[in-house]
Amino acid sequence: MNVPLLDLRAQYAQIQNELEAAVLKTLRETKYILGPEVTELESNLQRFTGAKHVITCASGSDALLLALMALDVKAGDEIITSPYTFFATGGSIARLGLKPVFGDINLDTYNIDPKQIAAKITARTKAIIPVHLFGQCAEMQPILDLAAKHKLAVIEDAAQAIGATCKGQQAGTMGTMGCFSFFPSKNLGGAGDGGALSTNDDALAEKLKILRVHGSKPKYDHQFVGVNSRLDTIQAAILRVKLKHLSAWSEARRNNADRYTAKFKSLGVEKLVHPPICHPDCGHIYNQYTIRVPRRDTLRERLQKGGIGTEIYYPVPLHLQKCFAYLSHRAGDFPNSERAANESLALPIYAELTAEQIDYVAETVARCVKM
Ligand SMILES: *Cc1c(COP(=O)(O)O)cnc(C)c1O
Repeated sequence: MNVPLLDLRAQYAQIQNELEAAVLKTLRETKYILGPEVTELESNLQRFTGAKHVITCASGSDALLLALMALDVKAGDEIITSPYTFFATGGSIARLGLKPVFGDINLDTYNIDPKQIAAKITARTKAIIPVHLFGQCAEMQPILDLAAKHKLAVIEDAAQAIGATCKGQQAGTMGTMGCFSFFPSKNLGGAGDGGALSTNDDALAEKLKILRVHGSKPKYDHQFVGVNSRLDTIQAAILRVKLKHLSAWSEARRNNADRYTAKFKSLGVEKLVHPPICHPDCGHIYNQYTIRVPRRDTLRERLQKGGIGTEIYYPVPLHLQKCFAYLSHRAGDFPNSERAANESLALPIYAELTAEQIDYVAETVARCVKM
């Protein structure tokens, strides 16, 4: 049996006609930059998330960059985030001359531990970027309480978490701003790069719209130095088609996750593989289903031999990246993040997986970890 980590062709086959008609329509309309599909998608996303404003942009990485640019921050200001995340979370901070300050994660959820944030707040701290890793929201209430107490902005990195909830509230709508990614492997993925920001703040929404067109409003008058970061009309058309299916796809991912976890239990390997733990307050959307095993690389090789695709998210935590050597961190500074980086392995979880495929993956994993 062959089980790839992600099979986008299975999804494409399901909606091929709808997608191709939408693409052809935009191609013929020729409104390629900020065309009507972009505005339509933004209002569809407003409805989906419940955010007052949604502003699309060129990528999830740019969404993080734009969110920080929209804040009143200057070089040297400190932004607290998780070291166990995709590079863009830390990269966006550093690119603006801001200082990434890390707080370790909770190993149960892989999300930043609010107590670690509290320990890192200084007079220069301006914002917290909690990452909703793998599709599960960070513990937002204590984070929002800390932010309110110290007058900090909260930028939710919801790149992996569109549709996830925390106490019934949607990812990206609880903080000052939320950032989403439409990278093809995300739950809502385009045919290329794309991203969006959400906010309930009218003034920030206006500023973000100006920042994504070089800081220009009216045209050729520049109040700020912005960037060129727009979502292509053609991508917006594709994402509008896919958004209609998103809830069903996320539901299918949840069912797949439940099947894996039940299977690991029945095979008696639950304690050996540490299936993901879903916090009772959270609606998890399983952008990834990540297990944790000490001999991870051996397991990965064996799964590959069995035709099973896996991935390591993420092998090197941010504080140990060469480009952040100037922060003078050492191995051992964030033990939970380092342990996750050494032990975690993402299994196939996409919506179209069959029960047979899931059982095959779970049985193969169980056999390997018992060896
Ligand atoms: C994917 C991702 C991003 C960046 O999104 P892109 O659209 O690829 O630029 C940022 N943060 C996290 C946690 C991500 O998973």
